[in-house]
Amino acid sequence: MLGGRPVEGGLELEIGGAEATTLRARTVVVAAGLAACRVARSLGLPGSPEGALCKGNYFTLSGRMPFRRLVYPVPVAAGLGVHYTLDLGGRGRFGPDVEWVTDEDYAVDPARAAAFAAAIRAYWPGLEPGRLEPAYAGIRPKLSANQPAADFLVRGPRDHGVAGAVALLGIESPGLTACLALADLVKEMVG
Ligand SMILES: Cc1cc2nc3c(=O)[nH]c(=O)nc-3n(C[C@H](O)[C@H](O)[C@H](O)COP(=O)(O)OP(=O)(O)OC[C@H]3O[C@@H](n4cnc5c(N)ncnc54)[C@H](O)[C@@H]3O)c2cc1C
Repeated sequence: MLGGRPVEGGLELEIGGAEATTLRARTVVVAAGLAACRVARSLGLPGSPEGALCKGNYFTLSGRMPFRRLVYPVPVAAGLGVHYTLDLGGRGRFGPDVEWVTDEDYAVDPARAAAFAAAIRAYWPGLEPGRLEPAYAGIRPKLSANQPAADFLVRGPRDHGVAGAVALLGIESPGLTACLALADLVKEMVG
């Protein structure tokens, strides 16, 4: 979906790809994850926020894992804090941190290890330098950059004035856990 506009009785959508086309829909639900704010704005839904991308990097540890349970420090401004989780194989990882970005780049910069070490030493002073290794990264869709954590934003016709359109914005974690409740809400809004 490349964009579109509100028209009488619904919305007109521009669809790209090998067979580009235009279609009309009575109901449109914007659930485009990282692109949701951009898509809502490209549809001309008034008042849609600009949106921002907040990368969360993870580091793992060489050698023996220090904990057999999850460790959660006190949350920070835009995230849960650098916490410790274990996968099913018992391998531990620390993360995510908070890095505001403009592109979807999932590479983990090894230079972030120093900041990770400082955050981890708050609850594990015994961390030895050099044991942290870059693991992977995820990106959270935010409503705006450099702001504290905000609730999900679900905007329907009462918010933007366009009949038949609902936009789900800033659906970061726990979006998956909340997906059935969100679906019920969307159903009510397009009712
Ligand atoms: C590392 C990581 C760990 C997480 N852990 C958890 C967890 O433990 N529990 C939890 O509840 N949540 C977790 N989440 C969050 C969860 O993954 C998201 O909240 C959820 O996936 C959001 O669902 P969505 O359908 O809104 O967006 P997405 O799952 O991102 O889906 C959006 C879809 O829209 C498509 N799209 C984008 N632009 C367009 C366009 N222009 N036209 C057509 N299609 C488009 C995309 O290709 C994509 O398929 C985690 C996220 C990350 C990154």
